[in-house]
Amino acid sequence: MHTKNKVMSFPYRANVALPDKFPVQGTFDLSVVIPAKDEAGNLPELYASLTTVLEGTGLRYEIIFVDDGSIDETSYEIEKIQMRDKRVRGIELRANFGQTPALAAGIDAAQGNIVVLLDADLQNDPRDIPFLIEKLNEGYDVVSGWRKDRKDKMVTRRIPSVIANFLIARLANTPIHDLGCALKAYRREILDEINLYGDMHRYLPIYARMHGARIAEIIVNHHPRRFGKSKYGLSRIFKVIIDVITIQFFSKFITKPMRMFGSLGLGLLAIGGGGLTYLVFIKVVYLASIGGRPLLVFSVLFILAGLQLIGLGVLCEVLSRNYFESQGRKTYSIRRTMPQP
Ligand code: UDP
Ligand code: MG
Repeated sequence: MHTKNKVMSFPYRANVALPDKFPVQGTFDLSVVIPAKDEAGNLPELYASLTTVLEGTGLRYEIIFVDDGSIDETSYEIEKIQMRDKRVRGIELRANFGQTPALAAGIDAAQGNIVVLLDADLQNDPRDIPFLIEKLNEGYDVVSGWRKDRKDKMVTRRIPSVIANFLIARLANTPIHDLGCALKAYRREILDEINLYGDMHRYLPIYARMHGARIAEIIVNHHPRRFGKSKYGLSRIFKVIIDVITIQFFSKFITKPMRMFGSLGLGLLAIGGGGLTYLVFIKVVYLASIGGRPLLVFSVLFILAGLQLIGLGVLCEVLSRNYFESQGRKTYSIRRTMPQP
């Protein structure tokens, strides 16, 4: 079915063109990146409170709004703000790509040494930003907000979130209470090393940690949503479970997939091989009939599956090398090279 591209139909678009390339104004101390999908009702207030807070810090900052294919007046609101304030930049995506790509677009455009990510829905409190930065300056690469007193629905949001966070933090060995909190501060270099896929924004601290980032957490304010709707429902829980598997794979095996697939495959081969050996033994020694034994089916299945897994391991090994080498990625990350005295 052909669906009409909703993004094209703006009756209220302001009559100004965004510049193709943003002028490079030198680096900033701070870039605040805000993805927005249908958040028109929130933007004016968000901008106002953000500006008050950021001006108070005395930092050179920029605010980057990314309109992620909104079908309300979001892009118009961003344009209005941008025309008033040079420190604000607007990016309009062609369609709704999702929160992670929207964030990636903003991060790519950001020039600040510190990048703060923030939701557009006023659930996060801009007044927490100076505290995040203060913590970052204690020598951390990532400071994550923790919505200890979260203002969302209990059953559909808070309980699943607590369980998921607990599991993920354990599995990924990243001691963070609230990955889902959008308000986080990053040092630029850490973000430069990470490419964002899928719904990865939620696990950014974990990926950062794989790159050796120092991570801290501070408690932040949280408010209920007043305008607009949440973009996620309960289906997020299943996605999170699958994401956890991906993270596990990435954190442990991306540089050596054969270790995982190969050892699993070998294990299956050994079990299947053992079963077959036993069957051959009783066939030869006791002249037993083995054709109808379930063990035969299982042994053959195990051997086949084992061979498949080993093959998959070899394939992944090739892919992994391709992944690193074709993109000039490193399997390590340097914090600093020590200067000669
Ligand atoms: N968002 C986006 N693109 C999307 C979905 C969400 O840019 O496809 C933005 C949204 O406008 C908000 C942030 O991501 O600024 C978080 O979304 P939401 O508040 O709906 O998530 P929740 O807080 O309910 O987890
Ligand atoms: Mg929200």
